[in-house]
Amino acid sequence: MLKLESVNTYYGNIHALKGIDIEINKGEIVTLIGANGAGKSTTLMTISGVVPPKTGTVTFKGENISSKNPDEIVQMGLVQVPEGRHIFPYLTVQENLDMGAFLRKDKPAIKKDLEYVFELFPRLSERRKQTGGTLSGGEQQMLAISRAIMAKPDLLLLDEPSLGLAPIIVMQIFEIIKKINRENNTTIFLVEQNANMALKVAHRGYVMETGRITISDKSENLLANDSVRKAYLGM
Ligand code: ATP
Repeated sequence: MLKLESVNTYYGNIHALKGIDIEINKGEIVTLIGANGAGKSTTLMTISGVVPPKTGTVTFKGENISSKNPDEIVQMGLVQVPEGRHIFPYLTVQENLDMGAFLRKDKPAIKKDLEYVFELFPRLSERRKQTGGTLSGGEQQMLAISRAIMAKPDLLLLDEPSLGLAPIIVMQIFEIIKKINRENNTTIFLVEQNANMALKVAHRGYVMETGRITISDKSENLLANDSVRKAYLGM
């Protein structure tokens, strides 16, 4: 589904991604964990075309997307939910969701997907006429994920979906992530600082340190790995 090979990304002189390799197979949930500033968000931005790589290749569904624009990449079925959610605060819940389906023309399928997100998040259905900015943090995260689902992704990139949310909401969000993966076979690449939760929902994980991938393994092995436990699981 997705392959990064020897990817190097810079912000001016700052070398943020230092030759990273990542592979994600169809139907998997894969997580990328690491400390603040390790390069996790940059990895997602590089994949989605917002901060293109200087060298190396990003291949999505067999096609090299390294120099494509973000909108072309979305149209191919690769959709990112950015950190901080970025919903449209002055648009209603319904309008935010309509924006997610903006590039689609398959009206009956759009209607079905709308019913599906309201089933996933009944709270959003209750609040469909309310503006995005008046929702709680958890509801805004639900809206951001739902808006991405409305774009009908094959691969969903989630950047820190648990950030700043109450533990009970975090649990709900992670349950929904599993559900979306299971029910729609949507492949998910999840960036998280909450390594414990992320490794519990993911099949596999990558550990990133200062722009490099240092470990890659099945989640169960990472959860049992001593250095991962010390550095990221607070044990
Ligand atoms: P966090 O969890 O805090 O978001 P992260 O692992 O996602 O951290 P990135 O945000 O990808 O890390 O940052 C990687 C490196 O790139 C850091 O050194 C950061 O300071 C730098 N960086 C990120 N965004 C920019 C930018 N727009 N301009 C310059 N440097 C940046």
